Amino acid sequence: MNQAITGKLIQESRKEQNLTQRELAEQLGISDKTVSKWETGNGLPEVGLMLPLCEILKISVNELLSGERLDEKNYKIKAEENIMDLMNERKEAKFKLTVAAITCVTTLICSLTLMFLAKYLEMETWLRVVLIVVGAISIISVLLTSCELDRTAGAFECQHCKNRFVPKFGAYLFGMHTLTTRRLRCPKCGHVTWCKKRLNK
Ligand SMILES: [Zn+2]
Repeated sequence: MNQAITGKLIQESRKEQNLTQRELAEQLGISDKTVSKWETGNGLPEVGLMLPLCEILKISVNELLSGERLDEKNYKIKAEENIMDLMNERKEAKFKLTVAAITCVTTLICSLTLMFLAKYLEMETWLRVVLIVVGAISIISVLLTSCELDRTAGAFECQHCKNRFVPKFGAYLFGMHTLTTRRLRCPKCGHVTWCKKRLNK
């Protein structure tokens, strides 16, 4: 999916229907800023808006995702491509999460062993201090890296408006969380909810 090409199609189709950005936005119950964002390639319509948008624009979701009008022959090919795109995005997200989990666990074990040895083995004090500092630094950096991988794999879904978004690092880090949800403020509707982790953006 290419945001710029999809944006162009939205703009073309909107003009064909003789709608202004504002009129289209009103029909969808969103702001005209959002429509402008789509058309300039700075964002895709969220999944929940795709069907109503396509109905108004008289195009299919498949065409929206492909960014072009499709004849019968191309229709099927593009549909398959679009499905594969979505699946690859999920795969990539899963891979990031797995890497995050594995590096996190192994480094934690190594660092804790290092710090344990530093505490109980006979050695010079300076060496002891170095080992403990190195252990502590690697634990912190690995935790931050895993957070970053988890933050950017897929997206979080607002429970209020179903908007999916990638939170800022600070908000992510300090948001209370369980294994699959995190308490975050939705950038679209402003509500703070227990956002669910989703593998697709
Ligand atoms: Zn929301």
